[in-house]
Amino acid sequence: MQLAYKELNQGITCIETYYRRPQLASCYMMEDTGEVAFIDTGTAHTVPLILELLEKKGLAPEAVKYVMPTHVHLDHAGGTGQMMAAFPNATLIIHPHGARHMISPEKIIAGATAVYGEETFKEDYGELLSVDEKRVIEAGESHEVTLGNRKIVCLDTPGHARHHLCFWDEKSRGFFTGDTFGIAYPEFTTSRGSFPFLPSTPVQFDPEAWHQTLDRLMSYDPQRMYLTHYCAIEVTEAFAAALHQQIDDYVAIAKQADPANRYEEIHAGLTNYFQGRAKAHGCALSEAEVNDLLSLDLGLCAQGLEVWLQRQEKN
Ligand SMILES: [Zn+2]
Repeated sequence: MQLAYKELNQGITCIETYYRRPQLASCYMMEDTGEVAFIDTGTAHTVPLILELLEKKGLAPEAVKYVMPTHVHLDHAGGTGQMMAAFPNATLIIHPHGARHMISPEKIIAGATAVYGEETFKEDYGELLSVDEKRVIEAGESHEVTLGNRKIVCLDTPGHARHHLCFWDEKSRGFFTGDTFGIAYPEFTTSRGSFPFLPSTPVQFDPEAWHQTLDRLMSYDPQRMYLTHYCAIEVTEAFAAALHQQIDDYVAIAKQADPANRYEEIHAGLTNYFQGRAKAHGCALSEAEVNDLLSLDLGLCAQGLEVWLQRQEKN
């Protein structure tokens, strides 16, 4: 893996994490007056690249003040333990619902190993290291972080996950949105702009909360969103409206599925849906390319909707 990154505005750098394939997942470095924060971490495999980047910029590991995963899904927070070990002055900023999983990662290790198997887990994530709880700040709604001369504000943003924070950076008028403002893979970008994709990943998809969260984010009048998947996008009303629409369309697709064959039907429904949307967006990709680029997400989204339906039925 070779260090790959893109300089954005206002001291923000977007870094390729090499999770699964290039241009699938990124993480961000923010620098202000010699102080550094990392927002999302990639996985353990990403951390050597992060150290290389710091060195290249002439910054010491001691300059890192914060490690800030948006939430504890492993494409966002998998490298946290290694980063905290490498940065002696760093504090971990994490949602209160996510903190215990960073201090004692056994439960996420068991969960992810059950889904992916031990070998794939190692290949994708390496090792998950625990973080000393004395170095953890449980950051809830409105928690403020100071980095150099700038202020970063945490928003509690359920919808994708209950342990999800979005970080508002006043200086660049942008949010670091993790998965909350959707996914936009560069391969799908056309003259119509970025292509929105809503990740209803298991196990905490919450349609009502997500609608409210999107409205809250947009109420700040953000100029750009720093997506984890993948890199920064300019914010448009159309992109936000498409995410709202997808929440409702996912619910409809899930509810239409025959309970006897639920996962398969939801998966087929979503595949069909995004084939149509990609065409309508003017993507030049073939059907096979669309399926290939979205294959991981379509599987996770179908699982997430299945879990959501089961929860609805239980209540
Ligand atoms: Zn993600």
